[in-house]
Amino acid sequence: MTEKLVLYDALLREGPQTQGINMSVKDKLRLAEVLDSLGLHYIEGGWPGANPKDDLFFKEAKKLKLKNAKLSVFGMTRRAKLKAAQDPVLVNLVKAGVPTVTIFGKSWDFHVEYALKISLQQNLDLIYDSVKYLKSKVGEMFYDAEHFFDGYKANPEYALKCLEAAFQAGADCLVLCDTNGGSLPEDVEAVVTRVRQRFPEANLGIHCHNDGDLAVANSLVAVGAGVTQIQGCINGYGERCGNTNLTSMIPNLALKYKASFIKPIHLEKLTEVSRVVDEVCNLHPKDNASYVGKSAFAHKAGVHIAAVSKAAKTYEHIDPQLVGNHRNILMSDQAGLAVVLHKAGKKNIKLNKDHSEARAVVETVKKMESEGYQFEGAEASFELLLKKALGQHRDFFDLVGFRVIVENRNDGPIISEATIKVKVNGVLENTVGEGEGPINALDQALRKALTKFYPSLKDVRLTDFKVRVLDAKEGTAAKVRVLIESQDAKDSWGTVGVSENIIEASWEALVDAIDYKLLKDSSTKGGKKK
Ligand SMILES: [Zn+2]
Repeated sequence: MTEKLVLYDALLREGPQTQGINMSVKDKLRLAEVLDSLGLHYIEGGWPGANPKDDLFFKEAKKLKLKNAKLSVFGMTRRAKLKAAQDPVLVNLVKAGVPTVTIFGKSWDFHVEYALKISLQQNLDLIYDSVKYLKSKVGEMFYDAEHFFDGYKANPEYALKCLEAAFQAGADCLVLCDTNGGSLPEDVEAVVTRVRQRFPEANLGIHCHNDGDLAVANSLVAVGAGVTQIQGCINGYGERCGNTNLTSMIPNLALKYKASFIKPIHLEKLTEVSRVVDEVCNLHPKDNASYVGKSAFAHKAGVHIAAVSKAAKTYEHIDPQLVGNHRNILMSDQAGLAVVLHKAGKKNIKLNKDHSEARAVVETVKKMESEGYQFEGAEASFELLLKKALGQHRDFFDLVGFRVIVENRNDGPIISEATIKVKVNGVLENTVGEGEGPINALDQALRKALTKFYPSLKDVRLTDFKVRVLDAKEGTAAKVRVLIESQDAKDSWGTVGVSENIIEASWEALVDAIDYKLLKDSSTKGGKKK
């Protein structure tokens, strides 16, 4: 790969065609800035004239201060009955006033005759006229040859003639599209090679869909065969199964093929950009996404963790920091000593593998995990467990007892009320809390009781509460696992509780959450330990 590559992101047009994605104009503007921050070279904004949202987007986009990317509009060849200059579709593309226009046209004889219902020659005229007209009006003009690979299979000479029409009319790039997404890498490579021979002077591009889960592979072989423009979408969104996933494509090109781009790509921002895109699209990030997923550099098996701690490349294909991601060592019953030592080290808790305490912790963790505890996402509970095992934990309060009432009075809203008795330094505190549910009421009561002694608890917020029903073993009732996420001004932390009783499991996680906060504050203040 000696030629410099061009990255063209189509998320703003293909994204809204994805099931589950809705983008407001504001979302699209925000996404354009995010994509630009990665250094992408082109951002396809949408199809002006086809829907009012895209018209507004292009109007508002004029105010964006993009540092790297050029905006492009998307449309199609003129209608058979109209002249190019009179076709409203083409006129609207010019009116949008952006530097680059991309249009698609037919390359498959079957589509020309059955979908457009015109002659093969007429289609060639549409392509030629449309490209010629647009090229005379805008700086840059890319031609997307729709269904090119299927068209080439059916009638290679005709598919090439369609490209010839666009090339002769002045298209700056001929983009070969695998619109139905079913092509195989060997076919893509052969076809691109043939096109390269036929048009040695033309810039070629590739636009793949992922219906065979091969869009990235197909785009890579296309680049190997001489394509320089790669179209796709961050996180691989797009119609049906999506488009070429640029989030994997870019690091593959940059790190594996050592490709260079017309302008530098900020690879270290890739993970952040991927997550922000999901956030704006209101989708949950895929944990197992290559390069950028939470699990991409996560290690769970004990042998792996021991090896990775010595040399990361034993189980990592790249340094996660190159793409802005990080290593994640997971706690699990498979792990054992290596993970306990690793976690303790991260928290500056001194342990070595010959310590009897370390082995005792491993045994405790294994026993708890067999009972349904899970410490992934409950690092705070794990740290408390470690400190308790090492005798480095102090009790900030003693629970004397609690009671929760859930009541429905006269068909009104259901009210939850909790009463708590705790002892702090020998002082008995008795409080009542009301809440939207029993857990919320307990949380309120507990905090009310303790804030008097520990004012910093005022800052703690419960941000997430997850309940998972665990499979019942034979002869036992089903258990539930509760994971709580808490937050103060500086940190967030997760805690866990398990019981057959959801209130008890929640209470356990809640107490750990408070306990962790107090422990954290006392250690930063250098507080004394009992
Ligand atoms: Zn597409």
